[in-house]
Amino acid sequence: MSIDYGTVFENNSLSGKQRAFIEVQNRCPLCNHQLEIKVVSHVDAVTLREEALCPSCEVPARVRDHKLQ
Ligand SMILES: [Zn+2]
Repeated sequence: MSIDYGTVFENNSLSGKQRAFIEVQNRCPLCNHQLEIKVVSHVDAVTLREEALCPSCEVPARVRDHKLQ
């Protein structure tokens, strides 16, 4: 399961500032490569883990947990 951020952003009304912020957040802090966002189910089934990985550095740049309930 993966999130297509491009599609998500097309379909809602983010301001230019918010788009710029997200663009920065989705780039590797080390090499500025576009990060690959991966979402995996957690063991407890109510948490989704979002992992941002730089395919160039092969370093996980960000891991975020999202509670579904
Ligand atoms: Zn990188």
